[in-house]
Amino acid sequence: MNALQNQDPQVWDAIQHEQDRQRDGLEMIASENYTSVPVMQAVGSELTNKYAEGYPGRRYYGGCEHVDVVEDLARQRARSLFKAEHANVQPHSGSQANAAVYLTVLNPGDTVLALDLAHGGHLTHGMRLNASGKLYHFVHYGVTQDHHRIDYDQLARMAREHRPRLIVAGASAYPRQIEHGRFAEIAAEVGARLMVDMAHYAGLVAVGLHDDPVPVADFVTTTTHKTLRGPRGGMVLCRESYAADLDRSVFPGLQGGPLMHVIAGKAVCFGEAMQPGFRTYMQGVLENARVLAEVLLAGGLRLVSGGTDNHLLLVDVTPMNIGGKLAEQALDQCGITVNKNMIPFDQRKPMDPSGIRIGTPALTTRGMGPTEMRSIGGWILSALRQPNDARVLSDLRRQVLSLCQHFSVPS
Ligand SMILES: *Cc1c(COP(=O)(O)O)cnc(C)c1O
Repeated sequence: MNALQNQDPQVWDAIQHEQDRQRDGLEMIASENYTSVPVMQAVGSELTNKYAEGYPGRRYYGGCEHVDVVEDLARQRARSLFKAEHANVQPHSGSQANAAVYLTVLNPGDTVLALDLAHGGHLTHGMRLNASGKLYHFVHYGVTQDHHRIDYDQLARMAREHRPRLIVAGASAYPRQIEHGRFAEIAAEVGARLMVDMAHYAGLVAVGLHDDPVPVADFVTTTTHKTLRGPRGGMVLCRESYAADLDRSVFPGLQGGPLMHVIAGKAVCFGEAMQPGFRTYMQGVLENARVLAEVLLAGGLRLVSGGTDNHLLLVDVTPMNIGGKLAEQALDQCGITVNKNMIPFDQRKPMDPSGIRIGTPALTTRGMGPTEMRSIGGWILSALRQPNDARVLSDLRRQVLSLCQHFSVPS
């Protein structure tokens, strides 16, 4: 019996059950992944005990000589992985990274142009109830009605009309590559700064499988736990000319002591992403998404934009005469975890939208490939065709479990 189990069996049991859930089901939430054992070891380390307000070499606390090594490794690796002039690895999350950029370039009430939440944007891109939406004046561009691609003409029109101080690119539910160069041209034309939030596709950028925002953006923000497959956290990359202001926005602007154990996990994650195996992994993620898209299309589902060229699919389930809520529930009963999601120009409500979002990063980490994607695609179709048939769903659950037993998860 280990110390946690002995002292606090309630927490221990919940963790055990979560481990079982992660092992015995198919994790297809596009923003999730399985981080490695070395990353988890770093995050579970004694570094959690250390206060280190400030930055390496300039701390407000003694005893920082070892955590300085860790943060320097994380910053250097981030810069070299993404060929960035400056990296701040302290943001506790992707949301904090975005808030830090806003604090650096905006005053309250300033205008920002970002992708509409209902068209794939993120809540930190100006949602009404989020601090971003309360503090700043966000206006939103969308995707085109016919091909569901970012409407760059509308973006340019709105930029000329609203004269934003900042333009935000990046999305949470957009299955296509984002053309950062076009954003940069529009930002330059109207004198706006450009922030690219690559939270979802940072892993693809790291290995050259997605258009690279770093050369053209003033700021690039990301999470470290999605396709990048590291610990839960955030990061900002920027040009050297913004470095001092940005660092001040993170600390003392927004945060107190950095999570040094998580920063250690980030250093390990960046080291892993520099290995050749990470590119192979990301290629597998893309191939799996393409195969899954083919199977779902052939089975009669509609895909937003007609397909995918990244790690996720946005599936319109209404051709099955169901909504996203029932689709999510039916798949959940089979042990397939996805999330319901609005689709562009959705006629339904946010709590029961027309779509589900599906991603391949986590299953690819387990070693699954096209063969498994074909089986899983077939199971998804069966579940969505008979979402209320308990026998069908429990039979699918058994097949999911049997597949999972052949693919281990890091633990
Ligand atoms: C996930 C995500 C974030 C926020 O990440 P958290 O770590 O959950 O705060 C920010 N922007 C985009 C586009 C995201 O997808």
